[in-house]
Amino acid sequence: MTQEIIHSTAAQLAEKLAAKELSAVEVTQAHLDRIAAVDGDVNAFLHVNTEEALSVAAEVDSARANGEDLHALAGVPIAVKDLIVTVGQPTTAGSKILEGWHSPYDATVIKKLRAAKMPILGKTNLDEFAMGSSTEHSAYGSTRNPWDLDRIPGGSGGGSAAAVSAFEAPLALGTDTGGSIRQPASVTGSVGVKPTYGGVSRYGAIAMASSLDQIGPVSRTVLDSALLHEVISGHDPYDSTSLQESWTGLAAAAASGDVKGMRIGIIKELHGEGYQAGVENRFNESLELLKAAGAEIVEVSCPNFEYALGAYYLIMPSEVSSNLAKFDGVRFGLRVLPEEGPLTIERVMGATRAAGFGDEVKRRIILGTYALSAGYYDAYYGSAQKVRTLIQRDFDAAFAQADVLISPTAPTTAFKLGEKVDDPLAMYLNDVATIPANMAGVPGISIPGGLADEDGLPVGIQFLAPARQDVRLYRAAGALEKLLEEKWGGPLLAQAPVLGGAK
Ligand code: GLN
Repeated sequence: MTQEIIHSTAAQLAEKLAAKELSAVEVTQAHLDRIAAVDGDVNAFLHVNTEEALSVAAEVDSARANGEDLHALAGVPIAVKDLIVTVGQPTTAGSKILEGWHSPYDATVIKKLRAAKMPILGKTNLDEFAMGSSTEHSAYGSTRNPWDLDRIPGGSGGGSAAAVSAFEAPLALGTDTGGSIRQPASVTGSVGVKPTYGGVSRYGAIAMASSLDQIGPVSRTVLDSALLHEVISGHDPYDSTSLQESWTGLAAAAASGDVKGMRIGIIKELHGEGYQAGVENRFNESLELLKAAGAEIVEVSCPNFEYALGAYYLIMPSEVSSNLAKFDGVRFGLRVLPEEGPLTIERVMGATRAAGFGDEVKRRIILGTYALSAGYYDAYYGSAQKVRTLIQRDFDAAFAQADVLISPTAPTTAFKLGEKVDDPLAMYLNDVATIPANMAGVPGISIPGGLADEDGLPVGIQFLAPARQDVRLYRAAGALEKLLEEKWGGPLLAQAPVLGGAK
């Protein structure tokens, strides 16, 4: 029974719960048992929320027994990236500086999960303050890719993607500043969505780079992400960048599976040279399937995407240097006193930040402080903002020719743990294809596109849509998922050697 439960999608669990074929306690317990069985190897979770998850599940069961109206996902458990603040559980952001810290308030997305009565299984591992592409920059040890425990699960949200692909949770929340939902989804064979900027409230997501950050869903199917997206989205007065939009029709679009007449634009600059052969092969295969299903494939050029990574590594660290100033040894978490000398506030801050932050976080704070400093501001930050405008214009021109754009999500499959951790530039290159969406605020999704020929590891296919048109992502991705699964004879993760896979 446990096996059957953990291999069900969120949509299937919701149906079985509604039909009273399963209880929410059974469903939640099955996932907690799976976590207990495999998370010693995977290290997806930093905290497991056993008691609270089971008590929410029990509430769902008694509400259902009393005939109360319940949300469709009531009783479907979820894991949450540990960058999102939660009452009753620690929030660490993957950093020593927040070890043992408990938020006094819930993020807006958490309030929404609670309102829907979705049991929260726990908090998932991440690169410290979401900075990285491998989860190796976590202060609490790396997460491992369930497809091959010697490989990275992507980052920064490797914990959420690994939890979902190891069948520890049917759903998870991530955050995506430059690709941290989509790239982990890509390398673990799961689905990850970065919604339109402002579509999901950022209130309670510990800020990395506020003009780029977005919370979004992680799941094993396109439909499941759409269902979760509908739960967490919507206007929030606590987030001044939140849009006045109602996000309906996402799940219906995901289920429609129809791309007939849809114009799909291949971004010339986001495939080919620099992309692993097996990634390119699976990408071309997806294009053929879409074409055969009646989509019109066009080629678009976004010449300024070449500068996206460079501009991102000025804008993002600039915002990081400002956002992380609040970790001062006074207000949150860790406080370290200087070993000798006077106890001034500056010296306590210095000692706390020196001990509490890891190397990658320090690197970015220093880079950002430099980029923003007097005399350099216009040359660095100012130029990067101009590049950002050019990227937005590239998107506008591309979306005049195509309804959605398509590319591989990441240039390679999952690399080995340790392979790039000491080479920041090699690490940064993982996000070449995901960063443009954050720079322009447009939505993106990554879905499994098959296994690379060379290494048998998952390849991700990314769709991008114009801002506010998230519904198009679900339509295109839902259709491609259906076409691919027909070809494979089932979901990709059913083929996973993942800790026993679907067996
Ligand atoms: N990997 C990218 C970085 O290191 C993206 C991070 C993210 O999206 N949070 O900045």
